[in-house]
Amino acid sequence: MTSDFEFDRQHLWHPYTSMSEPLPVYPVDKAEGCLLHLDDGRQLIDGMSSWWAAVHGYNHPVLNQAASSQLGRMSHVMFGGITHKPAIELGRRLVELTPAGLECCFFADSGSVAVEVAMKMAIQAQIGMGRPAKTRFLTARNGYHGDTFGAMSVCDPQTGMHQHFSAMLSSQLFAPAPQCAFDAEYNPADTAELAKLLDRHGSAIAALIIEPIVQGAGGMRFYHPAYLRELRRLCDRHQVLLICDEIATGFGRSGRLFAVEHAAICPDIMCVGKALTGGYMTLAATLTSRAVAEATSNRKLGPGVLMHGPTFMANPLACAVACASIDLLIENDWQRQVKRIEKALRQGLAPARQIQGVRDVRCLGAIGVIELDKAVNMAAIQQRFVERGVWIRPFGKLVYAMPPFIINDQQLTELTTAMVATVAEEVS
Ligand code: PMP
Repeated sequence: MTSDFEFDRQHLWHPYTSMSEPLPVYPVDKAEGCLLHLDDGRQLIDGMSSWWAAVHGYNHPVLNQAASSQLGRMSHVMFGGITHKPAIELGRRLVELTPAGLECCFFADSGSVAVEVAMKMAIQAQIGMGRPAKTRFLTARNGYHGDTFGAMSVCDPQTGMHQHFSAMLSSQLFAPAPQCAFDAEYNPADTAELAKLLDRHGSAIAALIIEPIVQGAGGMRFYHPAYLRELRRLCDRHQVLLICDEIATGFGRSGRLFAVEHAAICPDIMCVGKALTGGYMTLAATLTSRAVAEATSNRKLGPGVLMHGPTFMANPLACAVACASIDLLIENDWQRQVKRIEKALRQGLAPARQIQGVRDVRCLGAIGVIELDKAVNMAAIQQRFVERGVWIRPFGKLVYAMPPFIINDQQLTELTTAMVATVAEEVS
């Protein structure tokens, strides 16, 4: 019999990896608090929150309890023709916590699916508003919205996956990426090209989709809130719906509960996911204004129903854990947690600025980024991090951390010290 490790190498895909030349993987036996325990007994301080998700850390007694008590009632039941407390309770929390204009909630089974649903809603809403010619999407470069076809079509056309799937992808409109940094002075020219695209193609555009304030997988860039405010104004002027993808930023990560709050705007459609269940299992949601929901349901001009309904829609187990996770965020005073992490990341990563080969160091909320001049050697740098007792997974030129909110000060110091030391080795 092949060893577990060999079986994994030969039979299991990992995210964005080759089946013929897979990068090394590290077997995790269990995870607790802010620590990942490897099979060989080593412990790693988690700097990734399992890709923005595990905000309360791992194996949390409150989330465990929510899952097991829901398990004793029902793990799943179809949502067609049936409803249940966990979905209703979660819907209440989301409608209450998200910006005031968002009132209707569609539960999807992953972030990418929530984006697909948002795009379908936008097209159907435009049909319902009597504007069936509005079927395209406008977005900014450097964006990332997921791996399914609709979502891929609005990912950055260069760093995304467009060239491999061009025959299958809808052709969308791309404005330059926002240039003004979050804390720099705002230059109104930042939206000039985007405004021109709206002038030229507005009558064919259903919606503009963007990650609010933080462009995540497309470069870990933090842009100016005035840019987002201007997008809101331009969308209104051109009868284009604004979709904000809060899948990475939602639930406190950027220092606000939702990143749109930095700009004090309300989108027409908003997607959340990842940290929604505290990283316990997959669940996402697409929220809309009443006006969008009603236009989407227009029986005279369209099919009258939203054309989407996943098997595991509003999975009760995931909804119950999500409710507990949201309550825990509030109980734990997430704002205080995120402020403490931001301060520690700013202080701890600052020395990286002195390293030759480092282009930029930036932090926002519980996100800390070291951008290098050149792409890292993934396998080698990952091994160095593991040897230093931390879990950091860079991509391209970006070495970044977004730890669980429960990380303690000592762990934060160890994490940032390891990041700076490892980057110094990588570029030497
Ligand atoms: N949108 C954004 C902004 C994301 O960061 C991601 C995931 N990295 C997605 C959408 C897709 O989510 P999922 O991986 O759950 O499909």
